[in-house]
Amino acid sequence: MSEQKFGLAGVMGWPVAHSRSPKLHNYWLQKYGLLGAYVQLPVAPGQLPVALPGLAALGFRGCNITIPHKIDALRLVHALDPVAQRMGAINTIVVQPDDSLKGFNNDGFGYIQSLLDAKPDWRADAGPITVLGAGGAARAVVLSLAERGAKEIRLLNRSPEKAQALAAEFGGPIIALPWSERHHALSGAALLVNTTSQGMHGQPALELDLAQLPTSALVSDVIYVPLETPLLAAAKARGNPTVNGLGMLLNQARPAFAAWFGVMPELTPELRAAIEATL
Ligand code: NAP
Repeated sequence: MSEQKFGLAGVMGWPVAHSRSPKLHNYWLQKYGLLGAYVQLPVAPGQLPVALPGLAALGFRGCNITIPHKIDALRLVHALDPVAQRMGAINTIVVQPDDSLKGFNNDGFGYIQSLLDAKPDWRADAGPITVLGAGGAARAVVLSLAERGAKEIRLLNRSPEKAQALAAEFGGPIIALPWSERHHALSGAALLVNTTSQGMHGQPALELDLAQLPTSALVSDVIYVPLETPLLAAAKARGNPTVNGLGMLLNQARPAFAAWFGVMPELTPELRAAIEATL
């Protein structure tokens, strides 16, 4: 309904003060000469059912959804993209021409793109994949790897029931293994992914012996603070190629920006450096 040319979008969560998304989207708005702004939308738990329906009336083209609203937002939008439906969580809302709200989840896209940016010939079916962790980030990683054609995904989580539940829900190539098997589960792997919070700033390092991991395996950590986790440092030291979590964060923002502002933005070394300076 809105006829204004000034494009508004934002990040809705609680808290949102530390989100890098405003810096990222406002950088692109300026770079592509678009009139608009991307703002913080701090919405306390419980206020989501009031805040979301206000988006269209306020002239917003949409917003990102972050902790703690990613799951609650599912039942508050009018339509869901199939990926968000399978993921069971929303990270992006796009206001439709009739002012209805459609939910998307671009985290999986961001993850796969981060691997391709680092290794353009990367293939999901190149060999077994070992994924550690079964929380929110793992859902996006595992689902996108399976959709990309992974043949075998070994999923290990400290609390085994969560890995088993994810394997039962998504099925296909996902096999849940006990956490105690994580060192052996690296044998013959082509890709190792850490989706646990271990190694994040303020957390202890992930307890993992890489001895059985082929040195050709790509080692990826979705953590981006710090950019080089102890896992990535250990992998690099033995010659494994590595990918940090910044690419996932930056790439998930691209389709959202495209949906709101009509331009698929690029990730340039200058942008990476600008965001890295904030970490
Ligand atoms: P989450 O849903 O809370 O899941 C946390 C995961 O870490 C669970 O699998 C949990 O296992 C595991 N874990 C916690 N403490 C552990 C320990 N002591 N030993 C072994 N495993 C442990 O969190 P999330 O949203 O998935 O986020 C996880 C990480 O991914 C965070 O560092 C976050 O910053 C990062 N992330 C990055 C991006 C990106 O764009 N790069 C996007 C999303 C998240 P249990 O089930 O046993 O508790």
